Amino acid sequence: MPHRVLSLRRRWRKAVRKCVAVVTQAVGRHPFLAGIAGTAVAMAMASLTFLTLYDGRADALLHAHETSENLVSLISSDLARNVEIYDLSLHSMVDGAQNPQTWQLPAALRQSVLFDRATTAAYLGGAYVLDASGRVVASQKGELNPAVRLDDRDYFVAQQRNPYVGLFVSHPFRSRLRGGNLSIGLTRRINGPDGAFAGVALLAIRIEYFQRLLDKINTGKAGSVFIALDDGTLLARKPYTVEQIGTSIAKSPTFQRMASQAEGSYVANSAVDGVLRIFTFAHVPSTPLIAVVAPSVDEVFAEWRRRSLVAGGLTLALGTVFVVVAWLLAFTLQDKVAAQAELVRLAATDPLTGLSNRRVLDSRLDEEWLRARRSGSAMSVLFVDVDYFKRFNDTYGHAAGDEVLIAVAECIATVVRRSVDLVARYGGEEFAVVLPDTSAEGALIVAEKIRKKVQGMSVFDGASDEHGSVTVSVGCATCLPAEGGSVSGLMGEADAQLYAAKSAGRNRVRAAD
Ligand code: GH3
Ligand code: MG
Ligand code: MG
Repeated sequence: MPHRVLSLRRRWRKAVRKCVAVVTQAVGRHPFLAGIAGTAVAMAMASLTFLTLYDGRADALLHAHETSENLVSLISSDLARNVEIYDLSLHSMVDGAQNPQTWQLPAALRQSVLFDRATTAAYLGGAYVLDASGRVVASQKGELNPAVRLDDRDYFVAQQRNPYVGLFVSHPFRSRLRGGNLSIGLTRRINGPDGAFAGVALLAIRIEYFQRLLDKINTGKAGSVFIALDDGTLLARKPYTVEQIGTSIAKSPTFQRMASQAEGSYVANSAVDGVLRIFTFAHVPSTPLIAVVAPSVDEVFAEWRRRSLVAGGLTLALGTVFVVVAWLLAFTLQDKVAAQAELVRLAATDPLTGLSNRRVLDSRLDEEWLRARRSGSAMSVLFVDVDYFKRFNDTYGHAAGDEVLIAVAECIATVVRRSVDLVARYGGEEFAVVLPDTSAEGALIVAEKIRKKVQGMSVFDGASDEHGSVTVSVGCATCLPAEGGSVSGLMGEADAQLYAAKSAGRNRVRAAD
């Protein structure tokens, strides 16, 4: 078992090393990969961060929505419960008022029969029984003002006209009985024995009730929360401005939504102050009231925006640094690779002529020998030597001699054009040419071309020898490596042929028979 674990580990390490090697090789060959990979990684990380931040925005919206829903439900249930309590009082007042015996009781007793349950209700401005002409015939606090008629109020008219209105919630009004207090009225119809309209039971609720209810709700500095009637009349609003109470938001395009749906949520500019808010609303069951909570969009996203700015800014900054570092690395690597390639080139090149040097010649000779042996093809080499070069040097100096060497190298290179051929400086004023897959006749033709080309060139005309120009002698050797022999044998043969050319008078080509 431990042995298997060990071998697994070794295999794993080997695989990792192989992967690293592949990556380093790829990057070494294409340094810009480092920059591209760095940029891609930075972009992927930035995308991830921005996706997460975008998710955070949805979360903030959801959280605000849930909070608003809870608040709306809180307001709604408080309203529903209180309206129910007020309605119980109204029922008791109607029952009392419809009983003829009530009106025969002494005033104090009648008072307690009619208004018994209404006395405890919170924010109650007053409880009244009105007769069919809108005069107060009984009031909770006992005062009767015969001069005041209330038959023009909406809560009175509605009950008077329609026997089936039930509980009626009025628009806000300024009380005529209680010094102009802003109130709303809750009424129920009182019928006579024959079912004809006999008056209304009225509870005046101070508008403060709604305002106190909203005061407890926190919707931030720019948020708002309000209670409206289902015809768009504002009953209470936070932030509070007295002029707005009783005004209508029915014309606001978004109010249609509130009026037509039992509950919902939408984003819109406020009809009151133009602030963009997330409105969440619900109709209070069995009443014409709508409760609305509307935090401002700016405040809902404030914390998210702050966090996003920090995280997004950091991501951008770090990502930029990452990308810059990756590209710096890529450029540095590219310089290194270029420098290394130049070094390799220099190590293989003769500095004076730009031809391949002796080292390249030796390795290419071995390679081509093996290749020719495998394929069974012929292989030729040429030895090219400048004639009387010592004399030339002595006469014109080394600098001029160097120029001649450069010119001769160029001559040979222009004649030997196949990509598989190799021209190298063997040393001093000697050059070697490797001609793979070339017969003796072919080699002879190339050698003759070289000789003629050098003779025809116009550097230091008439200065080198008795022929009046720089000349070379060439020794050719050809063999079939498949039939035996060696590289050194072939080179020795070429050298011998060169010696023969020199002996025969120079400026000529010699090949073995
Ligand atoms: P031969 O016709 O028999 O070849 O006579 P040679 O004078 O050319 O031959 P030798 O081998 O006696 O002389 C070679 C001369 O080449 C010696 C040296 O002055 C010159 N030489 C070798 N390398 C360089 C070089 O890099 N630059 C220059 N300018 N001359 C060189
Ligand atoms: Mg020589
Ligand atoms: Mg020579």
